[in-house]
Amino acid sequence: MGRNALDGSPEIGHIAMDIAGIGKRIEEVRGRIRRACERAGRDPNEVTLVAVTKTFPAEAVSAAHDADVKDFGENKAQEFVEKFEAVDPATNQELRWHFIGHLQRNKIKLVVGRAHVIHGIDSVRLARALQDHAEKEDLLLKCLIQVNVSGEESKFGLDPEALAPILREVRGMDRIAWSGLMTLASPTDDEDRLRREFRLLKRCLIEARDIVDSMEHLSMGMSSDFEIAIEEGATHVRLGSVIFGDRDS
Ligand SMILES: *Cc1c(COP(=O)(O)O)cnc(C)c1O
Repeated sequence: MGRNALDGSPEIGHIAMDIAGIGKRIEEVRGRIRRACERAGRDPNEVTLVAVTKTFPAEAVSAAHDADVKDFGENKAQEFVEKFEAVDPATNQELRWHFIGHLQRNKIKLVVGRAHVIHGIDSVRLARALQDHAEKEDLLLKCLIQVNVSGEESKFGLDPEALAPILREVRGMDRIAWSGLMTLASPTDDEDRLRREFRLLKRCLIEARDIVDSMEHLSMGMSSDFEIAIEEGATHVRLGSVIFGDRDS
């Protein structure tokens, strides 16, 4: 990792990260979360800020932890392990890691045991592999099912119509605590469209609850759309660039 000659911040690729500004941006984000909750008549304590540190170094985790962030998100198994191991163990004890990427079955052993929540389950095959691994390791895994609410072909996630039949297949897996749903909305600034997509995930959750009553979380909303997601019921917002700055990848 290089050093930026001007301000001494760690450099990732060609992007210099403004470590010193992280605390201030987290406070701004918390204010925006609070105001979105007020507009929606919600309690801000219902919304967990998950700081997404992908592409940023372990120093970013420490800086956000200094601003009292406890929940962190990573989307690549290998990078997650490296960062997890790089964080000071005493700090790491206080953190909850969220694996938010597409989990390949051959990476399960890297993620299980380190992540508190796995957000992106979208197949019975992956669920079964997680169940088997958790059984061997004598663990209980908190998992969220990913739903594709945007209708875009390229996205991971189940079609909303596939959710109920798949839940009936996986609900008997006793090593998985099915905790809710996650989604990525369309990359658009069309507010009506974003609202429709977030509402669709909420309707999916209500339907899912009839099948698995532990389903309660809605992981939706990123830097560009989290206030709308909160107004529509998000319990977890996954925020990267609004806290840590732009990524070069
Ligand atoms: C990168 C990422 C985020 C954060 O994106 P930002 O736009 O930087 O807030 C959230 N969720 C997932 C699944 C991601 O991969």
